Amino acid sequence: MHENHHEIFPDESRSLLDFPIPMDHAAMMRCLDLFTRRYNFLSVYPMGTSLHGRTIPMVRIGNEKAYRTVLYVGAHHGMEWITTVLLLRFINEYCEYYRGHRRIFNINPEYLFRSRLICIVPMLNPDGVELQIHGPGDAPNRDKLMEMNHGSEDFTHWQANGRGVDLNHNYNAGFAEYKELERASDILRGAPSRFSGEYPESEPEVGALVNYLRFDDSVKMLLTLHTQGEEIYYTSGGICPPKAKNIARLLAGMSGYALSEAMGMASFGGLTDWAIRERNLPSFTIECGKGVNPLPLHTNFSIYTTIREMLFTAPILI
Ligand SMILES: [Zn+2]
Repeated sequence: MHENHHEIFPDESRSLLDFPIPMDHAAMMRCLDLFTRRYNFLSVYPMGTSLHGRTIPMVRIGNEKAYRTVLYVGAHHGMEWITTVLLLRFINEYCEYYRGHRRIFNINPEYLFRSRLICIVPMLNPDGVELQIHGPGDAPNRDKLMEMNHGSEDFTHWQANGRGVDLNHNYNAGFAEYKELERASDILRGAPSRFSGEYPESEPEVGALVNYLRFDDSVKMLLTLHTQGEEIYYTSGGICPPKAKNIARLLAGMSGYALSEAMGMASFGGLTDWAIRERNLPSFTIECGKGVNPLPLHTNFSIYTTIREMLFTAPILI
């Protein structure tokens, strides 16, 4: 255990950590363990369990009774685990500023903590992340996964969960329309990306998140991190919830990212689509960074510098 800590955090005593190795599920869990030991005001709950039995943690920072909760979600997609690193950096930084009574972006962290609750799911798709980083290994359905990956052990471009369902098409938002497009693109079964599943919410990862959102009506806004493109999506099927356009403009101003409206296959079945269509909540897909997925690990610091003002400021925009 001790050695593993050193692999992830060469200098654990630093207040703001470096993230020098790929962020697989075990690395994230050890990081959250370190945070809970270090910051006694931080809560980490198991929100659910992935298909292959990995815990999907939710981190909660702020006032449980504020009734103004903002939800941040990372790593819907296997090759986008750099978004987990971005959210861990944010948790680390927020906790340090709060503990040290230091203002950031002219926000008083005590005010932010007292008046809002920020819930963070750093890695919604741990099985997909494991496949992308480590390959199929001894996964319980290894043969099936290999078949879906066209016989290759190289899972570098794997986006789906542990049985080839693309979680960001598994929400109940235009599912039937998406199925038509899916068939037209010849995606008929589990695949590295874009297969939406047998039915909406068929996957335990999506089920866990949606159950939480149905249960907790204090959630007023969602930010979902993906890579890449430096864009912010804020509508679904032409629907734009109240305040969403103004908030999107402010977020774009802070990050330099462009505002975009989803088209074609990208506009069905995602978390943002579901939250907009079913809940009428201001919900944003943030396409972090620019380049070819998977974005290299070392870019996480520069990407974080472009999105951190959004992450600190978004909660006070509602
Ligand atoms: Zn994505």
